[in-house]
Amino acid sequence: MILLDGKATAAAIREELADRVAGLKERVDKVPGLAVILVGEDPASAVYVRNKERACAQAGIVSRGYKLPASISQDELEGLIVELNNDDTVHGILLQLPVPQGLDSDRCLELIDPNKDVDGFHPVSVGRLTQGLPGFRSCTPAGVMTLLDRYGLDVSGKKAVVIGRSNIVGKPLALMLLQRNATVTICHSRTANLADEVRGADFVFAAVGRPHVVTQDMVRQGAVVVDVGINRTDNGLVGDCDFSALESKVTAITPVPGGVGPMTIAQLLINTVQSFEKKHGLSS
Ligand code: NAD
Repeated sequence: MILLDGKATAAAIREELADRVAGLKERVDKVPGLAVILVGEDPASAVYVRNKERACAQAGIVSRGYKLPASISQDELEGLIVELNNDDTVHGILLQLPVPQGLDSDRCLELIDPNKDVDGFHPVSVGRLTQGLPGFRSCTPAGVMTLLDRYGLDVSGKKAVVIGRSNIVGKPLALMLLQRNATVTICHSRTANLADEVRGADFVFAAVGRPHVVTQDMVRQGAVVVDVGINRTDNGLVGDCDFSALESKVTAITPVPGGVGPMTIAQLLINTVQSFEKKHGLSS
């Protein structure tokens, strides 16, 4: 059984990016910049933002944090986004979700310059993904694909089941798998018989947000299981899959924590560096 170690893979990517950023700095005397907007006091979001800022520092990317009170108005928030769109030192803009009630996150996300949409949530980015055109890819599913690539796991011609159809994980992941020539099934809360769908899969991707959605009896011997879920329980963080029961049955599996989570942040860094390279005509 191969443990798909997102933590180690993400650390390797950060080191590679640090070298790449140092090389870019020598060429243009500038470094990539990421603006991170956090509205309100959600503790989980604050942890995610801190982790993203720390990862930026390790890769030589300048991160600028904007910590705003939950009382901020829609107009003020949109004003900040416009300001950052026009700031040449900012190559990526990230609005940490969810935003507090009363604020319209969709409107804010649509206001972000698609050239700085390093989270890949803008409808332009999603449209480009749908059409198979180059563009920013949503970080969690793109991080999953990068992790599979690093372990040499090819989905082409394989049956892939994605559980979850959210705009930030399930749907874009299914499109990325389709683009890599997998035969893709998307399951969700109204799927009639989840176990039957999962049983036929060579690759299982769980993005539900509920522990033990994927159990041992549902998974085919030798399948690859990628667990995107993050669930806080009395026993700490767990994924959507019954990891200890699946371990002996699968070819490869991601742990939670230490699997997809670190890859999401690594992908954000990759997207930010790519944005910088594109702006300066340095794309490899
Ligand atoms: P979401 O709530 O937006 O979507 C959950 C999806 O699961 C929905 O499409 C729903 O139809 C489906 N679903 C719900 N119950 C189901 C069931 N019983 N059977 C089958 N499908 C069911 O969640 P999301 O934003 O896509 O996140 C999913 C999980 O991934 C969460 O645990 C979240 O914390 C985690 N997540 C992790 C990362 C990361 O970096 N590792 C990033 C984003 C989200």
